[in-house]
Amino acid sequence: MPDSIRNRLYSTEAIVLARRNLGESDRIYDIYSVRYGKFSVIAKRARRPDNRDGRSLDLLSRVLIHLYRGRNLDIVKSVEPVATHDGLRADLDAYGHACYLAELVRAMTEDRQPNEQLYALLAQCLTLLSEGVDPWPVTRYFEYALLDASGFQAQLYACAHCRLPLSAQVNAFSVRESGILCPKCQLHDPGAAPLSVNAQKYLRAMDREGLRRTIGLQLDEASRNQVQHMLTNYLQHLAERPLASLGVLRSMRGKVGTGVPAP
Ligand SMILES: [Zn+2]
Repeated sequence: MPDSIRNRLYSTEAIVLARRNLGESDRIYDIYSVRYGKFSVIAKRARRPDNRDGRSLDLLSRVLIHLYRGRNLDIVKSVEPVATHDGLRADLDAYGHACYLAELVRAMTEDRQPNEQLYALLAQCLTLLSEGVDPWPVTRYFEYALLDASGFQAQLYACAHCRLPLSAQVNAFSVRESGILCPKCQLHDPGAAPLSVNAQKYLRAMDREGLRRTIGLQLDEASRNQVQHMLTNYLQHLAERPLASLGVLRSMRGKVGTGVPAP
């Protein structure tokens, strides 16, 4: 192999976020990689039935990807599967939630801005969804941690307006103020949405205790809806464009009736 080509070669582990067709048989993939963050690559002839790399680059798969630096997009040289998440293909609800996580990463991260912690969390959440763990706490934790990783930590302990410590009562979350408001300050944002004491406790548990402990926590249905409404609304606001997979999840819930009303 000539040096000029060898110098253009590099590898990274990555998760496939999205793909689109190009020309007769090529494909462009949006990937989130551990070393370089989010970027797009091109896989030549990926749509041919005999193309092994095309099959390995399934949506939401975790792969080790070898690339050439290209003039515009980098070009896939070869792909090795790391985790295929087969469980997702067999479970529509888990698959829908996994697609939502991938869309959140696309919407909330900048190109070529690596974040190893966020990569590890996405990989872990996809594994859990694929293993059949309840998608609700996994997805809520991912939303919470993504906000944190993106610099939009919600203020959960003191009123986001007057800064006084919050008491154990119904308070409200304000997207505009990026945090919970005490009852007195709620008039500053009529759009603030109520959060029960349990909903606030759950949010703080996510903040303090991490994913594994949060998955096991119980939460009443009204508080679940409040937590979900708060996190999805806040992310939808920050993403500044409609999150299409949220709509898909809502319509799926309408059909299969999982008992969780749409936010
Ligand atoms: Zn206040």
